[in-house]
Amino acid sequence: MKIQFKRTKILATLGPCTNSPEMIEKLARAGVNGFRLNFSHGSYDERDQQIAWIRQATKATTKPVAILQDLQGPKIRLGMLKENFDVKAGDEIILDYAAEHNGNVLPVQYNLADKVKVGETIYIFDGKVRTTVLEKTSSTAIKLKVENDGVLMSKKGINLPDTDFGGDILTKKDLADIDFGATRDFDYVALSFVQSAHDIENLREILTSKGSTAKIIAKIETKAAIVDETLEEIVKVSDGVMVARGDLAVEAGAEVVPIVQRRILALCRKYGKLSIVATQMMASMVNSPEPTRAEVSDVSNAVVQGADTVMLSDETANGQYPLETVAAMKKVILYTQDREPVQPLSEIVRYKTQNDAIGLAAIKIANQLDAAAIIAETKSGATAATIATHRPNLPIISVSNEIRTAQQLSLSYANRSYCRPLSEDAGYAIAQELKDDGLFGSDPVTVVIVGGRQTGVTGATDTIEVRTI
Ligand code: PGA
Ligand code: MN
Repeated sequence: MKIQFKRTKILATLGPCTNSPEMIEKLARAGVNGFRLNFSHGSYDERDQQIAWIRQATKATTKPVAILQDLQGPKIRLGMLKENFDVKAGDEIILDYAAEHNGNVLPVQYNLADKVKVGETIYIFDGKVRTTVLEKTSSTAIKLKVENDGVLMSKKGINLPDTDFGGDILTKKDLADIDFGATRDFDYVALSFVQSAHDIENLREILTSKGSTAKIIAKIETKAAIVDETLEEIVKVSDGVMVARGDLAVEAGAEVVPIVQRRILALCRKYGKLSIVATQMMASMVNSPEPTRAEVSDVSNAVVQGADTVMLSDETANGQYPLETVAAMKKVILYTQDREPVQPLSEIVRYKTQNDAIGLAAIKIANQLDAAAIIAETKSGATAATIATHRPNLPIISVSNEIRTAQQLSLSYANRSYCRPLSEDAGYAIAQELKDDGLFGSDPVTVVIVGGRQTGVTGATDTIEVRTI
């Protein structure tokens, strides 16, 4: 009997509606494999509290989960307005980094005068108000022409689809947040509004210099990032990629999103990187106990397209039905995976490494013998992640002596992580343990174990074992 669990993982954003140890544990039990802490909101004290709660919940459920620090990046917002401000097509407004709200002068949290050029488009309030840059009026202010009627409110987000940040996308706030995060228990750091591979390399340098062991996720949500060669370069230098469909739709147009999603998922598999599909997957469940047909299709399609992970934002941060949303998502994933294999991919980069050759052979053997699971003994996670690249239609049980690896792998396709002390036969021991726990049923099952046996060589995958238990 194969172990029944969902192969596509769920990443849930924490927020006001889930901010308690009880809710976090319930979410983990309902099927959440990782938690996103959105650094656009909240204080460091709240973050420390959430991290402690998540790790506590993990202990209670014995299921490692990932924690992702989501950096805001150049998500620029209006400052505080005295009151909501109506605009009409043809109006002129000024965004000033150094001013308070006064008439048509509106405060903004970032000095745009340094970055934007005359004629560029700027969207305010999630794309609701479109404007064009007329002129720079001071060293801190720009004048905009409003293109459509609308209303502006305090703290609403600003999108700059045409603006080139020239490799300088980390704000002062991001740098402070990176400093904070580097000494905390984060498995992943996600960077918003990535424009080029350089942005990721720059972040990696900073994280490495601070001793962080977190992996880097590039959020794809700018026009610059989806240019063909740029996208491929970003995927190559990142550890994972998030299809950040919310801002991507504002910056590049909603119609590009499904195609970009498929390209990103294919590139991630090609290069063996983690892929996350994010935003509005179950958006109607913020206020409703049932998803729409379109939302169910969206999740099911992401599964068939081979996403490692699907993400929830408002649904679990501010929604009325966070647990129902996770349950609904899990139901779609299980139904889909049991009836439709992940679409095969012609183009997967073969690194001609020993790890990859052994991983691929293990899948072949497992399929031929109708094995119940592949078991990967993995220190860094690379062995298990490489096997996952091929999206085998069976569970990958990973066993590592590093808790960080177990946590990071919890977002990886088909993975179930176990953290156990280093031993010669860690893979066989975990298979035996799962068998004793009844996870493989009572009849004997075959498992294929992938690991390293050569004495004195750590981290090298060199052995395939077939065992009946
Ligand atoms: P955000 O990113 O929720 O941090 O904005 C995701 C998106 O833009 O879709
Ligand atoms: Mn975004």
